[in-house]
Amino acid sequence: MSDLRALLVFAAPHRSALAFSGLLMLCESAAALLVPWAGGLLTEAMLRTADVTPVGLASAGVGIVLTGMLGLFALQALLKFGTTYILGNAADKIVSDLKIRLYDHLQALPLAYYHQRRLGDTLALLTNDVYVLSGFISGTALALVPLLFTAGGAVILMFRIQPSLALLAVILIPLFYLLMKIVGRRLRPLAGQLQEEYATAVAIAQENLGMLPAIKTFTRERQESTRYRDQIDRIFRLNVKQRRIYAALEPLVQLIAAVGIVLVLALASADLAEGRLAPAQLVSFLLYAALLTRPVSGLANVYGQTQTARGAFARLQQAMDEPPEPAGDVGSALTVVKGEIEFRGVSFGYAGRSAALERVDLQVAAGETIAIVGPNGAGKSTLGHLLMRLHEPSAGQILIDGIDIASVSLESLRRQIGVVPQHVLLFNATVRDNIAYGRPEPSQSEIEAAAVAARADDFIARLPQGYDTLIGDRGVRLSGGQQQRLALARALLKDPPILILDEATAMFDPQGEVEYLQASRDALKRRTVLLITHRPASLAAADRIVRMEQGRIVES
Ligand code: ADP
Repeated sequence: MSDLRALLVFAAPHRSALAFSGLLMLCESAAALLVPWAGGLLTEAMLRTADVTPVGLASAGVGIVLTGMLGLFALQALLKFGTTYILGNAADKIVSDLKIRLYDHLQALPLAYYHQRRLGDTLALLTNDVYVLSGFISGTALALVPLLFTAGGAVILMFRIQPSLALLAVILIPLFYLLMKIVGRRLRPLAGQLQEEYATAVAIAQENLGMLPAIKTFTRERQESTRYRDQIDRIFRLNVKQRRIYAALEPLVQLIAAVGIVLVLALASADLAEGRLAPAQLVSFLLYAALLTRPVSGLANVYGQTQTARGAFARLQQAMDEPPEPAGDVGSALTVVKGEIEFRGVSFGYAGRSAALERVDLQVAAGETIAIVGPNGAGKSTLGHLLMRLHEPSAGQILIDGIDIASVSLESLRRQIGVVPQHVLLFNATVRDNIAYGRPEPSQSEIEAAAVAARADDFIARLPQGYDTLIGDRGVRLSGGQQQRLALARALLKDPPILILDEATAMFDPQGEVEYLQASRDALKRRTVLLITHRPASLAAADRIVRMEQGRIVES
């Protein structure tokens, strides 16, 4: 339970609602505990009818007790409504807070985090694990409180009636505990495994649906379907195993409780015969014992769900413990006046890989357009990633206008740089919203100017709804070259002093490329541009060509 205690941090802001429903629960338990007492009174009144008291008077007593009992049940129902409603809301809020905190944290994690794991695992955190926790908080943890109140109250009141009998009921408690421990040892690894397999299923589905074109063109439907089915089967078999334990647990616990009651009855009949116990007391006692069996049999469920929730929370905490990037506004603000860039002895390697950059020295003058060429994997794109601080160098410094970018805030740094990446990332939104992404509330004329500069205006005009056309997930409803032009327009609208074009014209036809270069000559001239390219036309537009091989600059 210790790790789940960290959940209290999320519960703290809702403590007044929680405290209020705690109070209601206390009242609910008190009402429940009054019922056996009323049962005793009822028995007394009924027995009196059979004895000496005048009939009218006794049945009046029975009537009063019965009415009182009815009142108690109504009160219990009302309190139950109150606690369910208020607690449910508080639990929902706790889980909502948790989801938002988790999402913000995941968003703040460095890209390296995602490069090292499946996206499906992260998605499973936001879906399955949060869902398990939400069920645990509202369905289990909070439902446990009134059960414990009632059980505790019942035991105390049983002691007041007949300590020797109560002792018997209490002796059973360690027995239950032992049973839970044994079962828990089997349930815990099962719960972990189950969630692991669930995450794999999400990962398979998520990856495959994103890879549909490849699946279809390579006609891999059957294999992928089998792979997914095998995964679902694995989950099913684990569920069966888990259900077998659960299914056995509850009846077993109930059986033990029933044996306890029978024992109590046997002892009680002796007590009754010897006059140590009045019949009314016996009725109360048995009603308390019955009240006690309810929480005890619920305990089995609670225990299993706690194990599952523990696993879910442990995974969540693991993600929450990952160090995020520094907050966007930490560090001094970088204001680029010129746009000079300098790499000074920069080395870097991706996790688990050999060096991608080795002691790179490179100076780019303000307003210069340099082309970076070299074979695949030479480290060209990595230069851009480090300049944006998507990764941090292991040695050396990168300076913009003579300022070490390690000391400036991420937000101010990234605002100065526009990137058209090799793999363009577009949103399932309109053309307009995609172009406007990097700049808050641009005017239509600014958006159009950027589209013209990127030579995107022609094709946009031919789209069915022009700038309002939805382009589909990742821009699937556009051609590769059109996607790149949108990405270019987006980068130009951001209007940064530094521009990184990573194979940005790779999808262009030669004529389009020449047109684009001519059109953007002005736009490029005012900026410092890193042009990662192999295309002769683009090379011709550069002031200087730098050649990279195996993480080093070999020629300038
Ligand atoms: P280029 O742009 O010159 O083709 P990159 O800078 O993209 O090359 O990559 C440099 C090297 O780093 C390559 O060997 C590549 O395999 C490796 N690499 C790139 N991205 C990652 C990553 N996220 N994780 C591990 N290795 C990577």
